[in-house]
Amino acid sequence: MNKKTVREINVNFKTVLLRADLNVTFHPGSTEISDDTRIRESLPTIQYLVKHNCKVLICSHLGRPNGSIVEDLSMKHISKRLSNLLDMPIRLIPDCVGETVTETLKSLGHGNVALLENVRFYVEEEENNHEFAQALSAPADIYVNDAFGASHRPHASIKRITDMLPSVAGLLMDKELQVLDTLLSFPTHPFTAILGGAKVSDKIETLKNLTELADTIIIGGGAAATFLKSAGYSIGKSPIEEAHISSAADMINNRQSSIILPVDVIVADSFSNDAIYQTVNITDIPNNSRIMDIGPDTATMFKEVIRSSKTVVWNGPMGVFEWEPFSKGTISIAECIADHTKAMTVIGGGSTADIVKYLNLANRMTHVSTGGGATLEFLSGETLPGVVGLLNQN
Ligand code: ADP
Ligand code: MG
Repeated sequence: MNKKTVREINVNFKTVLLRADLNVTFHPGSTEISDDTRIRESLPTIQYLVKHNCKVLICSHLGRPNGSIVEDLSMKHISKRLSNLLDMPIRLIPDCVGETVTETLKSLGHGNVALLENVRFYVEEEENNHEFAQALSAPADIYVNDAFGASHRPHASIKRITDMLPSVAGLLMDKELQVLDTLLSFPTHPFTAILGGAKVSDKIETLKNLTELADTIIIGGGAAATFLKSAGYSIGKSPIEEAHISSAADMINNRQSSIILPVDVIVADSFSNDAIYQTVNITDIPNNSRIMDIGPDTATMFKEVIRSSKTVVWNGPMGVFEWEPFSKGTISIAECIADHTKAMTVIGGGSTADIVKYLNLANRMTHVSTGGGATLEFLSGETLPGVVGLLNQN
C-alpha cells in the first residue's frame, strides 16, 4: 500500500485526532466487555502518539445508537479498560465535538490521551456530513485512521474528515493493509481461499475477485448449498440464493481458479441444536434435510489442499459451529490452518476470527484481521472509503 503512516510524518507535539475502532462486544444484556481485542489492537498507535508528545483525541463508534444518545453505548464503558491497558489515566470527554472538547484540550498536557464520546451519537456521522467532519477536525492538526474494521463505511469520522486534515494510517491500519495487499498483489502460490459462512450474497464480490487471483477456492458453510445446487446436486431443504446460482455456475465453469466443493456433508432434519443429523454423500442429501456442516471426507480433502498451499485466506465457518454437533468441520479446518506454519495464513471475518480466538489458535496464524466487512470489501478489490483519502507516500 502506498499510504503514509503515522511514522512518516512529524507528529511531535501535535494534537492528533485518532479514529480507532473501539467497538468491542459486551456480555449479552450488560456493559461488561466480553472481548477487548479491538482495544488491545489500538494500543500501539496510541502509545506511539503518546511517546511523541501528542495530545491524543481518540474518536470511535460503539454499537448502533443511530444518532441518539444511548447510555449503554457510552464510551465510558470503554475508558477504564483502555486506561488500564495503557497504564495511564484517560480523560473522558462527554461529547465528540464542540466546546466541551476545546475546553478539555486546553488543560490536556502533551503526551496525554482523551477519549471522545461515541461519534455515532450524532446522526451526521453516518451521513458523512461535511459540517460535522469540520467540527470533529477543528481541534486537531493531524488525522490518523487506525479503524480498519470501520473503514468500509463512508462516514464523517472515516471519510469526510480526510478532506479537512492531513491524514495518515495508524499502525494497525498499516498492518492490515500490508497483509491484505500482499494477498491481492503478490501472494506466494499455491494460493488457497476458503469461504464459508451463512450466505453467498455477503461474499459474492470477494469470491469473484479471488477467483481471478487464487489457485484454489474451497467453499463450505451454508454458502456451499448454492454452489452444490448450481453444480446439479439436490440439496434438500438447504436455503439457497437463487440470484447467485448463475454466478456460482459461472465461477465453477469459467474462472481460472479451481473451485472445490464438499463431497460429503452433515445434514439435519431441522435448524436446531438438537436436530436429528447424519453424514451423507452429496449425491444422497435427503429431501427433508438441510446442510449443517461439511463431512469428514470433505474435511480430509480440504485439509490436503490447505497443507499444499503457501498462502491461505479463510473467511466464514464451515458449518453452524455454534452448535456442537455441527462444529467439527470448522474446528478441524481452523486447526489445520494453525498447524500449517510454513504458509502465510490470514483469517478474516467476525465469526471466523472469534472461532480462532476461542480455540486459542490466533497466535499461530500469520494474521487475524480485525475487520469483517472491511476485510471482505478489500479482498473484493475495492479501495476502502477510509483509505482513499489518506496521504500517498512520495
Ligand atoms: P464471518 O463473520 O466470519 O464473515 P459469516 O458472518 O459469513 O462469517 O457467517 C457466520 C455464520 O454462518 C455462523 O453464524 C454460522 O452458524 C453460519 N453458518 C455456517 N454454515 C452454515 C450452514 N450450513 N447453514 C446455516 N448457517 C451456517
Ligand atoms: Mg459475520
